[in-house]
Amino acid sequence: MSVDTVSMTGWGRTAPTTALRFRPRTYEEAAVAVTGRGPRGVVARGLGRAHGDAAQNAGGSVVDMTGLDRVHAVDAVGGVVACDAGVSLHRLIEALLPLGWFLPVTPATRYVTVGGAIGSDLHGTGHRTAGSFTRHVRSLELLTADGSVRRVVPGTDLFDATAGGLGLTGVILSATLSLLPVTTSLMSVDTERAADLDAALAGLAAGGAAYESARIDLMARGRATGRAVLIRGEHVPVDALPARARRTALAFRPGKLPPVPAYVPEGLLGRAPAALLGELRFRGARAARAGRLQRISAFFHPLDALPGWNRLHGPGGFVQYQCAVGDGQEEVLHRIVQRLARRRCPAFHAVLQRLGAGGPGWLSFPVPGWSLSFGLPAGLPGLGRLLDLFDDETAAAGGRVCLAKDARMRPSAPAAMYPRLPDFRALRGELDPEGAFRSDLSRRLAL
Ligand SMILES: Cc1cc2nc3c(=O)[nH]c(=O)nc-3n(C[C@H](O)[C@H](O)[C@H](O)COP(=O)(O)OP(=O)(O)OC[C@H]3O[C@@H](n4cnc5c(N)ncnc54)[C@H](O)[C@@H]3O)c2cc1C
Repeated sequence: MSVDTVSMTGWGRTAPTTALRFRPRTYEEAAVAVTGRGPRGVVARGLGRAHGDAAQNAGGSVVDMTGLDRVHAVDAVGGVVACDAGVSLHRLIEALLPLGWFLPVTPATRYVTVGGAIGSDLHGTGHRTAGSFTRHVRSLELLTADGSVRRVVPGTDLFDATAGGLGLTGVILSATLSLLPVTTSLMSVDTERAADLDAALAGLAAGGAAYESARIDLMARGRATGRAVLIRGEHVPVDALPARARRTALAFRPGKLPPVPAYVPEGLLGRAPAALLGELRFRGARAARAGRLQRISAFFHPLDALPGWNRLHGPGGFVQYQCAVGDGQEEVLHRIVQRLARRRCPAFHAVLQRLGAGGPGWLSFPVPGWSLSFGLPAGLPGLGRLLDLFDDETAAAGGRVCLAKDARMRPSAPAAMYPRLPDFRALRGELDPEGAFRSDLSRRLAL
């Protein structure tokens, strides 16, 4: 097993901290890394796509799981895969799509590991019907603080604490997942312009498609505040394709652009480019367009085509914010969008989506209703105070802010948003009385 000392950040590239990084190739080596931890504890890390400090551990150990990346077994009839936790969703899609299976839940990037997907119980744009990632986990193997391995199944407290548990119950070594049958690797996509936030909310509330989201132009002001492009997608059935195209119907061919250079000056994604991009996206979308065919990769993971896109924000990095509020609390979304627009905050990739029923994960993010997410330059003046205000409004409305993406929340905030946090703390106290599993995020938020 290789061991080195490295400085790490999350995808937002803020708050780097240094830790001892272990890269196990076997489960036994992972156990050695956990039991041999120092006083600052240990945490698992996948592909580092969490935006904040969830997979960092200043002065302690970090177990990089990406070397444990075997696909153990695929049931191509029943649609089940068993794999190591360090396997990326990219690798799974590459292996499973040609067999006619897809992941029932995929986030906006496929460069996350199965362990990271469970640790943050990630959700996709199909949450209304598919729920979040851990709804499709049949079982997992968890390496706990004393070096023992437990098989964990849904319906148990340990499962509910580990689903969205941010690596704080142990290191997930492997998992067995249920899959979604598909007959092509294409999506049928409908787009529609929404003139303002009310129109975007109404368009999403009408529902109907398997995957739905709205790309909001947060730079638009006045009557256009919150204008958006609604995107709805369905998997294309093979019999909808011309005979010629059916032979390669399940091919997985993601496109790729040259990577973003290692150094990009600060401020490239400032107000003017953000406003221009928002304008181009809105004007570029036809008022309404139905049935456009798109590759699965382009539909679900457009940003993956540009490697290192997070460097576009410059050396200061960016902060990702995502909040969820229930139905009837749309006024909170209006206030957030209006404040961002009024202050001309250069927000990128702002997405509004519907959330369905929440899963059993005690620290899982989704609550039934709405989610709004966006990224802002970390150096934006007054950013901390503005996001604290959004936290307060979200909590007062019974909503929550996504912990897996967080880089800056105050320690008092999660208790007001996550009612099962006391159960989570109690279970950790019993399972791991020394607090072996720790991260910068868990220390910062006293999880
Ligand atoms: C472009 C982009 C788009 C995204 N879109 C979405 C989205 O649509 N929906 C969504 O929910 N999230 C989304 N995310 C967030 C991302 O999916 C999650 O943060 C995910 O956890 C990252 O996986 P990872 O393998 O990179 O894990 P890391 O970032 O390395 O770790 C994330 C957390 O998981 C824990 N963890 C990792 N591996 C293990 C393991 N083997 N055992 C136990 N714990 C482990 C870590 O300790 C940490 O707490 C997005 C992120 C990016 C960069």
